[in-house]
Amino acid sequence: MGVVERATLLCHHCGEETPHELAYAGRLLVVTTCTRCGTRIERDVRRRYLADLRQRMTSKPGRMLRRFRKHPVSFAGSLPRTTVLKPWELLEEVRLVWSAAADARRHDSRPKRDRE
Ligand SMILES: [Zn+2]
Repeated sequence: MGVVERATLLCHHCGEETPHELAYAGRLLVVTTCTRCGTRIERDVRRRYLADLRQRMTSKPGRMLRRFRKHPVSFAGSLPRTTVLKPWELLEEVRLVWSAAADARRHDSRPKRDRE
């Protein structure tokens, strides 16, 4: 999974606000899961994810390299998590985005808590 955050959101299945898990790929919200009933809302963000990914990969290196030359030590400790894109993290993100897109296409709104 990518980055997972928690938030209280309205669940249509529960009919009230419940704690949810929000799974992100980079800056894009991909899956919202109600932690009470297990209802998942998956979004097909493939097109936006690829555009976002391209931007993350092309816009950062030059800027990062200049900062690195100026302040090699402080630079390493100040990197935000998302700018250092490790290969296995990228793989997890891609897997998350594509599996969510596949599920979103099925228009299946049943709880999927048994799947994990
Ligand atoms: Zn719910």
